[in-house]
This record gives sequence, C-alpha cells and structure tokens, in this order.
Amino acid sequence: MKTHLSKTFFLLLILVLSLLPLPLLAQAEPETLTLSLRRDWGYGGFSGDIQGTFTMRAEGPDDLTRVDFYIDDTMIGSVTQPPWNYQFKTDNYPLGVHQLYAIGYTAAGTELQSNVIVREFVSAGQGWQMVGRIIVPILALILLVSVAGYLIDRRRGKTRRGYGRSGGAVCPKCGYPFSRHWWAPNIGVGKYDRCPNCGKWSRVGKATSQELAAAEAIHFSDQAVSPDQESEDPEETLRKRLEESKYDEV
Ligand SMILES: [Zn+2]
Repeated sequence: MKTHLSKTFFLLLILVLSLLPLPLLAQAEPETLTLSLRRDWGYGGFSGDIQGTFTMRAEGPDDLTRVDFYIDDTMIGSVTQPPWNYQFKTDNYPLGVHQLYAIGYTAAGTELQSNVIVREFVSAGQGWQMVGRIIVPILALILLVSVAGYLIDRRRGKTRRGYGRSGGAVCPKCGYPFSRHWWAPNIGVGKYDRCPNCGKWSRVGKATSQELAAAEAIHFSDQAVSPDQESEDPEETLRKRLEESKYDEV
C-alpha cells in the first residue's frame, strides 16, 4: 500500500516537473528574434512559391523597441511598437527567390538578427496555375464520382422521386409504399422501420422504382376513387400520401 502511494506521488512529481521547465527554459534562453510568415491573401505553394499579400511577424524579448523588416538587402519597413508585424505584397518586388528576415533592437541596445525565411515570389498567373493544377482535378473527380453514382442509381431503378434521401420501401406486411425514415436503424441488409399504414415494424430494403410503382398502383388506385377521398386526382393523392409519410418522421 505504501509503495503504491509513493509510486503515485513519484509519477505526479514527474508530471509536474515535465510541465514546469517549459516556461522556465524559455526565460533562460538567450534573447532571440523569431520571424514567421503569414499569408493574408493569395497563394502559398508547398514548394515555397508565394504570391499575394503576406505579413512578416517577429517575436522577441519584451524590451524590443524597434524591428526592421528586410527583403534581401532592402529594408521594407520599420516598426517601433508591438505588434511586430509588417505586411507586404509580393507583386511589389521582383519575381524570384528572396530572403526575408528582420533585425530587432532592444532597449538595452542589443541588435537581434532573426532567422531567414527563403521564398520564391511568383506571378499571380503562376500561382493560380499551380492552384488549378491541384484543385481542378480534385473537383473533376468529385463531379465524376457523383455523376457515376447518380447514373448507377438510376440504372438500378432505385431512384424514385418523392421518397426522400433514404429511399422508398414496400411494407412486407401490408404492401404499402412509404419513405424510409432517416432515423430508422440500419441493420445490414436494410433498415428496421415502421410502416405508417399498418404501424408494424419490419426490415425493409430500398425498394426499386418498379416495386414502388407496383405498390402505389395497388394501394392508391382504389383509395383515389373511394368516396371519402377529398381529391379525385390519383396523382394528387399519391403526392399527399407521400408527404404524410414523410412528415410522419418528425
Ligand atoms: Zn404496413
């Protein structure tokens, strides 16, 4: 029992120690200036090609008084108060490979040179060409897959309009066609769903267009001519029936 407790304590101590040193180490480190690049608008390729509006961001000691931002040997901006950010447009500089860096000055008079970020400035056309090379094939593939899926569904005759996303089913107990409920649980070879006509639960697969049409013919044709029916139009009755079975799910 005692060894168990001391073990727990020891593990806790390790956990606390492993969390503590991070801020402590950060303070103990020598003063540095860290430069990062953020894309505000435009293109940033994987290979270091950039085009558009970007922000250079410097992070340094608390007593920074000034940060100068450079592209190659040219100082493009000087900032004298935080945040140490400088925004620029790549189009304002020649195309090609550039070195981006910053030099910071502390109150104590220390000069801090940042890390150097190397990027290739490309033209707007080049940038979007690269985007097109990646995005367009993906979009084409997505379109192709969805069109193919639709065509396959249609060939199988599984898409009959008016039955919703989960498709229609024919009740095995009473033969009534209805929209399968989206919430009905899938049980492998179909959904376990409730027939709105007879109220019985059964396993129902997605019925084909032909099956649904046959069930509609049996179920709705005689009801359409029954005297207590408001509408005389069988099409209208069918539509209403389907609507009802759809709202039934709420
Ligand atoms: Zn039924």
